[in-house]
Order: sequence, then structure tokens, then C-alpha cells
Amino acid sequence: MPMSSGGKMQRRQFVKRLGLSALAGAALAAPAVVGADRPLRWKLVTAWPRNFPGLGTGANRLAQLITEMSGGRIRVRVFGAGELVPAFEVFDAVSRGTAEMGHAGAYYWKGKGEAFQFFSAVPFGLTAEEVNAWLYYGGGMALWRELYARFDLIPAAAGNTGTQMAGWFNREIRSLEDLKGLKMRIPGLGGEVLKRAGGTPVNIPGGELFTALQSGTIDATEWVGPYIDLAFGLHKAAKYYYYPGWQEPGSVIECFINRPAFERLPKDLQQVVLAACQAANLDMQAELTARNQQALETLVNQHKVQLKALPDEVLKKLKALSEEVVAEIAAQDPLAGKVYESFRRFRSQVSAWSAISTQAFLRARSL
Ligand code: CA
Repeated sequence: MPMSSGGKMQRRQFVKRLGLSALAGAALAAPAVVGADRPLRWKLVTAWPRNFPGLGTGANRLAQLITEMSGGRIRVRVFGAGELVPAFEVFDAVSRGTAEMGHAGAYYWKGKGEAFQFFSAVPFGLTAEEVNAWLYYGGGMALWRELYARFDLIPAAAGNTGTQMAGWFNREIRSLEDLKGLKMRIPGLGGEVLKRAGGTPVNIPGGELFTALQSGTIDATEWVGPYIDLAFGLHKAAKYYYYPGWQEPGSVIECFINRPAFERLPKDLQQVVLAACQAANLDMQAELTARNQQALETLVNQHKVQLKALPDEVLKKLKALSEEVVAEIAAQDPLAGKVYESFRRFRSQVSAWSAISTQAFLRARSL
């Protein structure tokens, strides 16, 4: 019940009379603040190598934000891929409470259900700006929560790669024919599209990519963009670097939180965790946007990488295949269908706006 202004006045005078020692006493009598004397120690497991530029450092940044924003009441320790659990087991580890938080990409979990794919990357789907709009204001987050609740998890967007590159190849891509027989690391729906174009998609954790490409276990790979790809050394194993990243136009990097652990937190710490994810989401996108062109210049000028655009004809065919693939997976389970409907409706609406805002402006700027 709110205190009357008279009551406030009386209390202020009372406190003044008693002096500071009384205030200290009142603080002691207040209900215990969770984590104030004994910090909660949380583990954050990631699908990336520890400290890896962009992704691993994104996880570090998130852990640091939660630790600092909570005044040390939650102390988050980061475990890179393989340190506590392997890269592709982080989801199950957090689901069963082995760790409190995970940092990955939702398409890694497509084996658990097709709906997952919409929360990481949809080929020819949404840009970073648009996907955040869908999640935060277009109904996407409620659907994501509905899906992850089945696994006792709470999801959050905690990073975005921005528009990726199409990937690294050792042969030129002049037509769809050139994708035939290509063994390429390309996860999620993009992989399914490649399969329909005649290629063989595989998924390999980031930490193993370079060796796989160099040894010829795979012929090609997509990974992220210039800044992160340069750090992984992919230019040492392939000479053509293609754009644009049709398969991942604005991939969400997720954080998922063990639901019982989250629900045990008082409201303020719950908000700290969620707000830290939002801050990390913005931070990663800004960092990659700032660093990509510089890294691209290094790749092209120092390492003599050949930068190439996928031909329009190839893109058009990939787009047609993508629409097919996405519609089919949506028909496979009811929740995927529900997410697809929301995603499709939002993409159509936001595309119209993007066309006369960002797209029209970018065109104007290049005139
Ligand atoms: Ca990628």
C-alpha cells in the first residue's frame, strides 16, 4: 500500500532523529537480497571456442554484463566448446541444468524440431534490424518462448552476425551446376537448400572448420563474415570468397537460460539477465559491422582472396528453392507451422517498409 505524504514526512523526521545508524539497522532488517552476501555462480556454455573473436568474445561480454549489472550477485563463468560439454551438446546441458546458460545458434537444434530454424536464420529471410523487430515487437519472442518452454529453457537474442557472406569455395560458382556434388559445411535451412541444388551439406562446429576445409573433408564452407572468418584462417584453405550470405541474412545468436534457475531469481535479477542479453545483442552487431570491412580489405589486399558476387541467376534459383524448403518444414509440425505463419506475415510487412526506407536510402547513397 502506498505511504501517504504525511506518513513519508513522519518517517523522514523519524529517520533523521535516529541518524545513520538507524538507517543501517533498517537495511539489515530488510528481506535478504538474493546473492547479496553469497553470489550465485552460473555457468555459461558456448558452441564456440573460448575467446574466439566475435562469437566467443560475445559470450564473454554477456557474462561480464550480467556479473557487473547484478553488482556481482550473479557471477557468470564462460566455458568454451568442449570445456564442459561439446559444442553441439550445450542445449541439452542447459536444459537439464548442468549449466545455467548457453550461447549458440538455434539452427544447431533442428534435430529437435523444425521450428528452431526460424530463430536463427531463414534463407532470404530477415536482416538483423528486421529480425529484432519481429522478435521484440512482431510476436516472434512469444513463439520462441513457447518452443523453448518444452525444454525447460528461456530463450533470448544475445547477438546478431548481420548479413553473412555466402562462403569460401575453391571453384567458381557460375551457375547452379557448380553447386552439384559440392560437400559444404552449411547448417540449417541453407544446408537443405544446397541439398536440393545437388550439393551435400554437412554441419561441423566452428572450431573444426579450418582443418576440415584444408584436409579436403569438405569442399567449401560458409561461416560468418570477414572479421570472424579471417580469425579462423579460412582464407588459407580456399581462394574464392562469395557474397551475399543468402543463407543467413541476419543470424540471431541465442542465449538460453535454464528455466528453474531463472525462476529462482528475484525479479530484478531476471531483468538484469534479459537486459544484458539485449545489450549483448546490439553490441555484437555493432562490433561486426565496424570490423568487417577492415578485415575484408586485409583478406583481399594482403591474402589475395578473390571476392566474388554470386550471379543473379544463381541467387534467383536458390531463392525459389528456399521458399519451397521453408514451406515444407512448416508443414511438418504444428508449432513450426505457427512460427512460419508469423514469420511470413512479418517478412511481407517489413519488406515493404525496408524497401522504401533502408533499401531506398542505400540506393540513394550510392547514386
Ligand atoms: Ca553462417
